[in-house]
Amino acid sequence: MVARHASPLQALLVDERFDGDIYPNEPMARHTSYRIGGPARFYVRVNSVSALTQLVDVCEQEGSPWVVLGRGSNVLVSDEGFSGVVISLGRDFRSMRVDQERGCIVAGAGVMLSAVVQEAFKRSLAGLEFAVGTPGTVGGALRMNAGSRGEWIGSRVVSVTSFVPGEGLVLRRGADVSWGYRESSFAPNETLLECELAVEPADPFYIRGKMEANLSLRKKSQPVNEASCGSVFKNPEGASVGALIEELGLKGIQMGGARVSDVHANFIVNTGQASARDVLCLIDHVQAKVKEAYGIQLTPEVRFLGFE
Ligand SMILES: Cc1cc2nc3c(=O)[nH]c(=O)nc-3n(C[C@H](O)[C@H](O)[C@H](O)COP(=O)(O)OP(=O)(O)OC[C@H]3O[C@@H](n4cnc5c(N)ncnc54)[C@H](O)[C@@H]3O)c2cc1C
Repeated sequence: MVARHASPLQALLVDERFDGDIYPNEPMARHTSYRIGGPARFYVRVNSVSALTQLVDVCEQEGSPWVVLGRGSNVLVSDEGFSGVVISLGRDFRSMRVDQERGCIVAGAGVMLSAVVQEAFKRSLAGLEFAVGTPGTVGGALRMNAGSRGEWIGSRVVSVTSFVPGEGLVLRRGADVSWGYRESSFAPNETLLECELAVEPADPFYIRGKMEANLSLRKKSQPVNEASCGSVFKNPEGASVGALIEELGLKGIQMGGARVSDVHANFIVNTGQASARDVLCLIDHVQAKVKEAYGIQLTPEVRFLGFE
């Protein structure tokens, strides 16, 4: 029985027909690659489109903040946590298939990008080698237009299905989306559900060669075994932000448990006990030093949650 004073959100989450798993006061450190972040009021894994739409609609009606998270590999969550609902895409968003006729892989937004890359390789399908070693889900990759310097996922997107509150399910052609440097033109309240990624048949040795070259570059140039969010800042036009920070001698500087990586200066790593505040202080410090030395205002690539 639902208490009379329960809000519509609380009522939905205790309804046994709700197709999802609910974790109240869930520490976000468990769900971010930084291993940092205080509790979300509710962390909810929705297992179907109807559970997602019900939950988002109730949050919207109630004015409760909500956000969809993939693997949290590009997010810094505050030490205080997030006072709203963090939504993770479960069961029905975690499958993929190859559509041979259309020459594409159809992947749910909750599928790991690495699984899609491996599936393409197994089927001798080329086009996604640039993404090897990029952590996170397909949904996160679409939102962030994940990629390398020369290639990004947006250029492979044939279509995306999403959910927009008030509009319902929306099907977009990839060509109708603007894909920028680590950004896309999806609406802020749009949840990406599934996409079709174009791939083409190729020699498996060619695909393997490209994947191995990308992986070995990544292992050489990034602190892959330390907790981080990947690149903290976007590269300014025509410059490498890692090189700018390194030139200022900032590699290895530390605030609390957060440290500018010795391997790549555009990575800030959690040495073990870093707080979000430590990371933020270091971000501010690096930004100030770069501004002072070069007059360049660095833009963070990492997304912030719970700092409002
Ligand atoms: C070691 C390391 C290396 C990395 N290397 C790269 C790299 O080479 N290239 C690169 O581009 N990035 C890189 N990253 C950053 C990160 O992996 C990518 O941005 C990744 O695509 C984020 O996916 P995610 O599922 O973790 O998204 P999250 O971090 O969970 O979310 C990122 C953003 O996307 C939104 N989002 C997530 N899922 C959805 C959805 N279904 N619908 C709508 N919005 C959604 C979130 O709200 C958030 O704003 C790296 C990170 C690490 C830790």
